[in-house]
Amino acid sequence: NKIIIAIDGFSSTGKSTVARQLAKELNYIYVDTGAMYRAVTYFALKNDLIGEGFFHSEKLIERLDDINITFKFNEDLGFAEVYLNGENIEKDIRTLEVSQYVSPVSTISEVRQKLVEQQQLMGKGKGIVMDGRDIGTVVFPDAELKIFMTASAETRAKRRYKELLERGHNLSYDEVLENVTTRDYIDSTREDSPLMKAEDAIEIDNSDLTIEAQLDSLIKLAKA
Ligand code: C5P
Repeated sequence: NKIIIAIDGFSSTGKSTVARQLAKELNYIYVDTGAMYRAVTYFALKNDLIGEGFFHSEKLIERLDDINITFKFNEDLGFAEVYLNGENIEKDIRTLEVSQYVSPVSTISEVRQKLVEQQQLMGKGKGIVMDGRDIGTVVFPDAELKIFMTASAETRAKRRYKELLERGHNLSYDEVLENVTTRDYIDSTREDSPLMKAEDAIEIDNSDLTIEAQLDSLIKLAKA
């Protein structure tokens, strides 16, 4: 029988990599909820609703109905890419610019409400692995398996730095570390829906674990 697996944790804990592979292994659907918050942020940037020194949050709230986020499985890549109003924005949402503005956008409760509703519909009656910040606490408080991933900020900054370099971004390690810790701060101090470990979540610190080792233990937990 198919279950709901919630994977929460700070940014760049390698959650998505493991969650994606776990879904593949179990033949489940994988949903990256961070991509959805990034899609809204991308929309806000494109429409000049947020930028250096300004944030028209009221206008963004008014335009939420114009934002249609979908996922489409890409056979070659082996995962579902995110689309905004029919346009593939998978690459566009991974930029540092989006990363810088995504946390403030995620604090808007109307944004969260919209995305949480959509996420809950995606998981209805299906085997699903969903990764994010509030999956085990808000989106699926009844998920059969909840994982909370942690890793030291330095480990995470190193991972993100490597990832960005591979994508051709030209940044210093310090800038990346700064972005990681800033997002941690905003995400964990947000009032309405803070990054929280669900009481029944299993915490995994993967600073010194390989992806294979993490995957192994997750498969065992999912099948238990
Ligand atoms: O997972 P990722 O790092 O791509 O998420 C980007 C940002 O989206 C996070 O830093 C957080 O601000 C927001 N987010 C959220 N709730 C989720 C997933 C992501 O607020 N469930």
